[in-house]
Amino acid sequence: MRRNMSLEKNKMPSQEPEVRKKNFLEVATGYTEEQAVDEAKRCLDCKHKPCIAGCPVRIEIPEFIQKVIDRDFEEAYQIITRSSSLPAVCGRVCPQETQCEEKCVRGIKGEPVGIGRLERFVADWHFKHSDTKVEKPKSNGHKVAVIGAGPAGLTCAGDLAKKGYDVTVFEALHEAGGVLVYGIPEFRLPISVVQKEIDTLKALGVKIETNMVIGRVLSIDELLEERGFEAVFIGTGAGLPRFMNIPGENLKGVYSANEFLTRVNLMKAYKKDASTPIQRAKKVAVVGGGNVAMDAARSALRLGAEKVYIVYRRSEAELPARLEEVEHAKEEGIIFKLLTNPVEILPDENKFVKGIKCVEMELGEPDSSGRRRPIEKENSEFVIDVDSVIMAIGTSPNPLIKATTKGLETENWGGIIVEEKTGKTSKDSVYAGGDAVTGAATVILAMGAGKEAAAAIDEEIQKRVKSKE
Ligand SMILES: Cc1cc2nc3c(=O)[nH]c(=O)nc-3n(C[C@H](O)[C@H](O)[C@H](O)COP(=O)(O)OP(=O)(O)OC[C@H]3O[C@@H](n4cnc5c(N)ncnc54)[C@H](O)[C@@H]3O)c2cc1C
Repeated sequence: MRRNMSLEKNKMPSQEPEVRKKNFLEVATGYTEEQAVDEAKRCLDCKHKPCIAGCPVRIEIPEFIQKVIDRDFEEAYQIITRSSSLPAVCGRVCPQETQCEEKCVRGIKGEPVGIGRLERFVADWHFKHSDTKVEKPKSNGHKVAVIGAGPAGLTCAGDLAKKGYDVTVFEALHEAGGVLVYGIPEFRLPISVVQKEIDTLKALGVKIETNMVIGRVLSIDELLEERGFEAVFIGTGAGLPRFMNIPGENLKGVYSANEFLTRVNLMKAYKKDASTPIQRAKKVAVVGGGNVAMDAARSALRLGAEKVYIVYRRSEAELPARLEEVEHAKEEGIIFKLLTNPVEILPDENKFVKGIKCVEMELGEPDSSGRRRPIEKENSEFVIDVDSVIMAIGTSPNPLIKATTKGLETENWGGIIVEEKTGKTSKDSVYAGGDAVTGAATVILAMGAGKEAAAAIDEEIQKRVKSKE
């Protein structure tokens, strides 16, 4: 076989910016078979396989890429799913540039192999062509409850179901998927893709009960003591939005990014017949510089805004969003107001937003996060004329679970305290992982935590069984 020694990745086919900024369809449309095989041939199949170490769930990357070269796409999918339960999702949203692809030897001189693009191709190929039926494993007679149907909870549930556990996932919202369905917009991750992954879990026997807010409808103690569950995994995420505590945050037209994105993505507020209202603002300021801010800005644009600003207090180099998201946002015409910090949201006579007062910033010495601290410039106030403001400056875990569970220890900021590698909490038979433990992080880290906890739960229950024999 001849390797492809091109220094560049095969380009991802995508909708043109002028077209895509007016619709909610997926921006990137995915490799063809020919492009995937050509890209796979860029892999050098190195002896030390550094890419695997860069993947939080340790996918056997060179092995699946070899199967792509062989055009055995189904086998490539089977190799990925040995380690990852959500490949179509991870292929789309994982920050590969700081994980597997960062370690790729081809990245030393040129671009790394497009591992994420290949993972996405393989998962999409499987869902389109394969008729391999998922077999429900034989029951082992043990019951486990999972709270929260985001990537952490779904991964934990899937891994336990594969071992024969009777798993019930309790989800507060009316749909499973967590941030994958209520946060990340359809133009990056179509809900149908997430649904296919959830259907696979259901075929494994995982039961999902929606509209079940644990801590309100049932408590964790009730699940363990009255409902026959032998262990509980908490994967409730970090959905509580933060605000800046500046004047004007309670005006009409100010949203948290979570509320805005939930209305748009989950409740489909962009459709004419949607039952959920949303303000279709003409000029929007999104405060923040992460993926959430980019998603909110690009969604506001698609809702019809003429001008959308990203207001971020550091410089471009510190933007925490994925590079690809920043590039896509720029191509679509989002205006970046960098080194800019809001100090007040201004009202009109009806208490609607009419502008956002900001100050200019400059960067000082690095702070505890290692990033240079933004410092306000004197006499630098100015106003951006907007009629809506979306706050995307971070989230924390919701305090409900802590408040309703005896003996569950958390950090001051709300993160559940767990033992490393197992996710075991301070409460017997209760495990936790994902954003509920780490604060807002990434899909793959949440999945990794769900996997580790599933292994630890299995070990604990099997130990109990053996001690009774
Ligand atoms: C807009 C946005 C864009 C993002 N983009 C990316 C990206 O591009 N790449 C990436 O890797 N990461 C991204 N992230 C981060 C990533 O989505 C999260 O790190 C990940 O979803 C965390 O998974 P989780 O399972 O811990 O929590 P979540 O996905 O938040 O799921 C938690 C679930 O628990 C449910 N729940 C909460 N409380 C209860 C309760 N009391 N009872 C029952 N259910 C409950 C919630 O409704 C939710 O469904 C993004 C996040 C956001 C918000």
